[in-house]
Amino acid sequence: MNIIKNEPMKNHTTFKIGGPCDEFCEAESIEDILSALKYAKTKNIPVFVMGNGSNLLVSDKGIRGLVLKISDKFSKCEFCGNTAKAQSGILLSTLSKMAQKKSLSGLEFAGGIPGSLGGAIYMNAGAYGGEMKDVIKSVTYLENGEIKKIEKDFGFGYRKSIFTDTDAIILEAEIELKDGDSHEIQAKMEDFKNRRIEKQPLSMPSAGSTFKRPEGYFAGKLIEDAGLKGCFIGGAKVSEKHSGFIVNTGNATAQDVLSLIRHIQKTVEEKFGVELKTEVKIVGDF
Ligand SMILES: Cc1cc2nc3c(=O)[nH]c(=O)nc-3n(C[C@H](O)[C@H](O)[C@H](O)COP(=O)(O)OP(=O)(O)OC[C@H]3O[C@@H](n4cnc5c(N)ncnc54)[C@H](O)[C@@H]3O)c2cc1C
Repeated sequence: MNIIKNEPMKNHTTFKIGGPCDEFCEAESIEDILSALKYAKTKNIPVFVMGNGSNLLVSDKGIRGLVLKISDKFSKCEFCGNTAKAQSGILLSTLSKMAQKKSLSGLEFAGGIPGSLGGAIYMNAGAYGGEMKDVIKSVTYLENGEIKKIEKDFGFGYRKSIFTDTDAIILEAEIELKDGDSHEIQAKMEDFKNRRIEKQPLSMPSAGSTFKRPEGYFAGKLIEDAGLKGCFIGGAKVSEKHSGFIVNTGNATAQDVLSLIRHIQKTVEEKFGVELKTEVKIVGDF
């Protein structure tokens, strides 16, 4: 395995933010994952597992220990009837396109989510009325050196799963889809894509929605109504296009983003009495 020292995490996050981690490696197979874990155990250093880095705000000081990135080459996928069995590094965009080509419906919602399958299961990612919880049939994962498989009790909730805040590494999943018409599936995916292009600041680095949707409200609307649209600290800015997104205007530090997050939380709480919780995972020491 190729272990890189002091790798800048900004090269691996969609925010394009993050200082150096002590050690970094990219796993393309289960063997790679196992040898990375063995390496970390021998050196007695912590391991942080990541997928495509599309939901992460990494500290300017980086991450201590080993960052184990599940590569998008860890992406073997086979279809058996209506079930797709895929490795966790596959990108949702790739997987949903494969399903569409097989005339299998159920993953249309996921086509524009820029994460890996593993990250999407961990987060129970969702959009346009669909969530991972609707399609996951089984998950195979590594925990305490053992490979385990579950077929129920995934603990899926709003942006969480049984894997959230554990050390488990998601390896593979079975996804249950339904027979559909490939043209209709494609049209639905195009429609979702166009809605994203219209509403979201996709040309700027971000980690998607900064906050979870508070019950009964929309985070973006609360932020806009609080007068915070376009508000910025350093290089971090509340998107003019979608107030639910914080974007990196070019040279934002993680501290800029975190200060803006805290400012938004305080202002929204004071004006509307609503607590905004981050959807973005904040990693490393601040
Ligand atoms: C422009 C944009 C639009 C977005 N739109 C949406 C949306 O519509 N809906 C939505 O839900 N999200 C959205 N997101 C957020 C993000 O894409 C999702 O949360 C996605 O599921 C994260 O996957 P990832 O592979 O990038 O995970 P990462 O960001 O790398 O990691 C996220 C978490 O998952 C854990 N993790 C990742 N892989 C594994 C694994 N194999 N095993 C164990 N733990 C793992 C990490 O430790 C971390 O805690 C958007 C992001 C962007 C930038």
